[in-house]
Amino acid sequence: MLVVMEKNATAEQIDRVVTVIQKRGCTARPIPGGDRVSIGVLNNQGPVDAALFIGLPGVKEAVPITKPYKLVSRETKAEDTRIQVGETTIGNGHLTIVAGPCAIESEDQALIIAGHVKKAGAHLFRGGAFKPRTSPYSFQGMGEAGLKIMARVRSETGLPVVTEAMDFQNFDLVEHYADVVQIGTRNMQNFSLLKRAGESVRPILLKRGMAATIEEWLMAAEYIMAQGNHQVILCERGVRTFAHHSRNTLDLSAVPVVSKESHLPIIVDPSHAAGRRDQVLPLSRASIAANAHGLMVEVHHQPDMALSDGAQSLYPEQFALLCRQVKAIFQVCVGQATF
Ligand code: PEP
Ligand code: MN
Repeated sequence: MLVVMEKNATAEQIDRVVTVIQKRGCTARPIPGGDRVSIGVLNNQGPVDAALFIGLPGVKEAVPITKPYKLVSRETKAEDTRIQVGETTIGNGHLTIVAGPCAIESEDQALIIAGHVKKAGAHLFRGGAFKPRTSPYSFQGMGEAGLKIMARVRSETGLPVVTEAMDFQNFDLVEHYADVVQIGTRNMQNFSLLKRAGESVRPILLKRGMAATIEEWLMAAEYIMAQGNHQVILCERGVRTFAHHSRNTLDLSAVPVVSKESHLPIIVDPSHAAGRRDQVLPLSRASIAANAHGLMVEVHHQPDMALSDGAQSLYPEQFALLCRQVKAIFQVCVGQATF
């Protein structure tokens, strides 16, 4: 149930609705944005009667939410959510490009790559300090030393930084250094991690699980929002299929479907979808043409020497070409673009 208040509803009228909701044993969650306040009714056991609210002063309407995800849904909030990270706005009308190496390997490596991606037009710098690797013998990331390097990159370049929190235990540490905290594909249904992310003041970049349906993905976002953090960026990164010509299969159809269902921004990671450098540019162009709000791309100045995901990392000049092309496509598709 969503209780939509009149535009000129007073604070007392809003408080009264909140009290009615709480007296029924439910949680009242005011929804930010728009020109009026709406209040979501959460944690209800069974249906809530709209008649409870309709007669109250300041209430415009009480609308049942039919989707299993509520705060994530456009039924709750019709207009697109925009998320501010430093000077960058992520969401409708803005194209956001996140770029950097798969993993932070050294200060030199991070600063060199950050210099290249900034010059090409990236808005945020990415890099893993804690890496979820399939093999326990593969490079696991530099840990806190890697996070400190990211902080150095931010102060040298001015680019906000995105990095992954792999578990509940290291969330505090990652949150301390990161501007945006990433939750990776393997953790999309790590519910204690999602709940912790929901308590964070940082925006969360939530990747789609490699075998997750769109509904499961949106429910994962709901976990974060239900704890009070409304700053969630969804990231499609490919799903497992029978295909061998790429590491995963980029599900571009997720972009229009998610955009219809949810007000949250959605970006695409063509690097982990493809797993191979030669597919990254065409998939990036297609993602922006499909109205994704941005891209997350792996870039390395010496991909042959990379400690992880070298095969899918673009050379800096390839990334510069990508930026030029996707900005042109964005302008055609979206009209007055602001980058
Ligand atoms: C990453 O972005 O570095 C990463 C590990 O991605 P994913 O979780 O999509 O595999
Ligand atoms: Mn990677």
